[in-house]
Amino acid sequence: MAADFSTLERNILRAKGLSEEQLARLQDMGIAGRDDFQVIGDLSTLLELMPDLDMAVAARVLEWAVPAVQATVAQTGAVQNGPAAPLEVNRDSEGNVVVNSSDSVYCTHCRFKQPKDYTPGDLCPNCGMQAEPIETCYWCGASGPGRFCRSCGAAFVGTAELSLAVMLRRDGVAKDDIPPRLKLMGQSEKDALWGRVRRARM
Ligand SMILES: [Zn+2]
Ligand SMILES: [Zn+2]
Repeated sequence: MAADFSTLERNILRAKGLSEEQLARLQDMGIAGRDDFQVIGDLSTLLELMPDLDMAVAARVLEWAVPAVQATVAQTGAVQNGPAAPLEVNRDSEGNVVVNSSDSVYCTHCRFKQPKDYTPGDLCPNCGMQAEPIETCYWCGASGPGRFCRSCGAAFVGTAELSLAVMLRRDGVAKDDIPPRLKLMGQSEKDALWGRVRRARM
């Protein structure tokens, strides 16, 4: 007979946003109490087990169940967008969850956590592909893997927003101010900037 959440745990999880169906699925996987979430331990693992779970709900559940997660979850994009989040939770083009923090790197192809001695450019020991995408620097145009440009030290902003970063550089925004500026920008501001990017291309 499978273990079951207590009535209180069940009510808390419902309040966090889990559906009955999701609760039942957690139980099927052997998760039947707050302690079991501590075994899961982190957001990416929970989302691997429950791919359809809303990221914010998952973050709230772990925040409740795993005290050590509280400090980091509070700073992830899943809950709020701070200008200097040390941990970023994103979904890649295939919808997989990619978690980046300053001390762990996950393969963008298979999500395998890279070894401690990982250096940008290394191949993933699990799937053999380059663990991190090659990014282009908005500041000097050099490209390479990792989070920072090896030529000029700028923090990469990701391919999706490269054109926006280049436009900010043309506007005279300082190198180190560009990534935080992009993070803080609202959607309408970004849309306006995209409009200028498109006009500049014509
Ligand atoms: Zn891999
Ligand atoms: Zn550069």
